[in-house]
Order: sequence, then structure tokens, then C-alpha cells
Amino acid sequence: MPSVKVLYIDDEPSNLDSFNASFRRLYEVFVARSAEEGSRVLETTPIHVIVSDQRMPGITGVEFFKSIKEKYPDPVRILLTGYTDVQVLADAINHGDIYHYIAKPWNSLDLQQSIANAYEAYSAKVALKDKVESLQRSNDELNRFVYSISHELRAPLTSAKGIINLIKLEDLYHSSGNYWELMESCIKDLDDYIHNILDYYKNSRLDAQTEKIDFASLLYKLIELHKNADPGGAFIRFNTDVVQEVGYCGDKFRVELILGNLISNAIRYQNPLESQQWIDVKISVFSEYVLISVADNGIGIEKKYQDRIYTQFFRAQTEKGTGLGLFIVKEVLTKLNGTITLESEPGKGSRFQVTLPNNCG
Ligand code: ADP
Repeated sequence: MPSVKVLYIDDEPSNLDSFNASFRRLYEVFVARSAEEGSRVLETTPIHVIVSDQRMPGITGVEFFKSIKEKYPDPVRILLTGYTDVQVLADAINHGDIYHYIAKPWNSLDLQQSIANAYEAYSAKVALKDKVESLQRSNDELNRFVYSISHELRAPLTSAKGIINLIKLEDLYHSSGNYWELMESCIKDLDDYIHNILDYYKNSRLDAQTEKIDFASLLYKLIELHKNADPGGAFIRFNTDVVQEVGYCGDKFRVELILGNLISNAIRYQNPLESQQWIDVKISVFSEYVLISVADNGIGIEKKYQDRIYTQFFRAQTEKGTGLGLFIVKEVLTKLNGTITLESEPGKGSRFQVTLPNNCG
């Protein structure tokens, strides 16, 4: 066993002497006659196991353990106590203040076994903490890597979109069959994909911010944005109904992300055979929450897929979309304590309803 540092606290000098005599060859022993002395040792030495007597003048062993728990969470704590302190012991164990107790007067074999077990528990705890930290670091690096790659990929895509717009301006868009149209649609898919990755990254990294949101102007902006981004957008009738008599405070980036995804899906999954395609968006703001409903008369979603649409990369229609949008929406809703429900019938349409808390109060 590597050098195990054990701190023993007892106000009885004879107990300290016998502890020293029994264990100094096995462990690096530190002794203290009071809780204050024990705290001073902890300030300068990385102790692995603390053994403390329960009955000491001024402070009990359990009170001492409680007082150091936050500052020194790693050392494992063993209490030495008489049989009379059963209630104190039960409380201390139930609250996680002590790892183990030994009845007094202690027997050195029992105590040695307890210290060995406590050290094992200490090592496991520290190893787990190191693993979690290292996993967090790799996760952060991976996230940063994905973020910068996604960011870099957007620049050439933006140029390609610009070139397509020039082709449209020069009336060459239909000059070579539907090749430009196909290219534009591929660029849009790639751009959507990258957008989704960036949104996912931002949602996982950024803390929720609270600011005032005016739903009427936000909705207008999002409808224009998504209608213009989709070639089918121009043929859809949008019906909007925003009732906002009280202020709404929430995370604008995330509210926009949710609403934007629902609107773009309602556009993307329209029924091409429908002569009058429509999308209804209703937003009602209450003092406690906002209710958002986005309904369409599109292709709908089969019952068997309705629970799965929120999972990563799931697409009910294989040829369209990234399968990431609703997954990210669900993640965002978890962060904001919101809810989402769906009613849908294939061939008739879908209605998504979202609630989000209003944080103005
Ligand atoms: P995608 O990028 O594929 O649209 P989403 O996660 O946003 O990813 O949606 C998952 C799947 O749910 C879609 O592939 C589609 O099959 C289905 N879906 C989502 N919204 C609608 C809708 N309004 N109408 C019909 N199907 C929808």
C-alpha cells in the first residue's frame, strides 16, 4: 500500500500514544488532540483517512466531520464512539458524514481493517473524480473541435449560396436543366446540418439568459426567414395569432431555436398534392408561461414514429432533413423546463404544442 496518511484526533493523550504505537509502521500517522489541531493538519497535509473520537471537549467528532466536509470532501471519515451514541451514529451515517464507526475501546485489528477499507474507498473516489475530469476535458475538446470545423465549413457554403444567387440574377438558373436547383438544394441541406450542429453546441455550452421577447416580431422574422429559405415556402398560407397582453421573459436564442425548427419542419413536410397548403401558428402569453402551437396540413407522422421523432438522427421520411432538429428542440426544452406534445395524422397534418415558463415574475 502506498504511504497512507491517517489523521487521528482524540483528546486523550494515552489513546494518541497507543494509536501511534500500533500504526506508525503501517501508515504515515498524524495525531491531534483537538478538532482545531486536526483542522491545522488538514490545511497543510493531504490526509487520506481521518479517525476521530466522538466525545471531545467543545465539539463532537460528528460535528467536526460535518464542519470539514465541504472544504475537504475527499478524506474518508471514521468515528470512534461508545455504544450509547446510537442515534448520533445513525444520523451521521444517514447524512453521509461518516464512512464507518468503531466501538470504543478500539481493537487494533478492527481499526486496521477499517482504515484499509477506508483507504480503498478514498482511492476509488479519487480515481473516479480524475476519470470524470478527464472525460469532461475530452468532451470539451471534442465540442470545440466540432464547433470550429462547423464554423469553418460555413464560409465556403455561404460563397456557394452567393454564386447561386448571382446565377439567378443573371437568369441562368434554368439554363442547364435542373442542375442549379439540385445544387442549391444540396447546399441548403449541408447548411441546415451545420446550423443544427452549431445550435446543439451552443445549447450545451451557453447558460440560459433571460430577456424580454416580443413574440409578434420574432414570429414575423422567423416565418420570413424560413419561407424564403425553402423553395416551397412561397406557396404556403401562414395564419398567425399572437396574444401577448403580458410581458414575456425567456432565453431568446433558445425560444427562437424551438420556434424556428417547428416552422421549418411545417414548411418542409407539406403535402405536395395539397392545393392549399397552410401553417397555423398560435402564441398565447400568460404570466406563468407561454403556449406555442404550430400546426400544418402536411404529410403528417405515422403513430408508430411519433415517439421516435425526438431521437438523434431519426427521420420518418428518409430523403429529407437531418434528423437532428427535434432532438435539439427536446434538449433545449429540458434545459428551459418546457414541454412538447404532438398530435398528427398521416395525410392530414401535424400540430406541435410547446409550453415554456415565463420568467418575468
Ligand atoms: P429533420 O431535420 O429530419 O426534419 P427533425 O428532428 O426536425 O429532423 O424531425 C424528425 C422527423 O420528424 C422528420 O424527419 C420528419 O419525418 C418528422 N417531422 C417533423 N416535423 C414534422 C411535420 N411538421 N410534419 C411531418 N413530419 C414531421
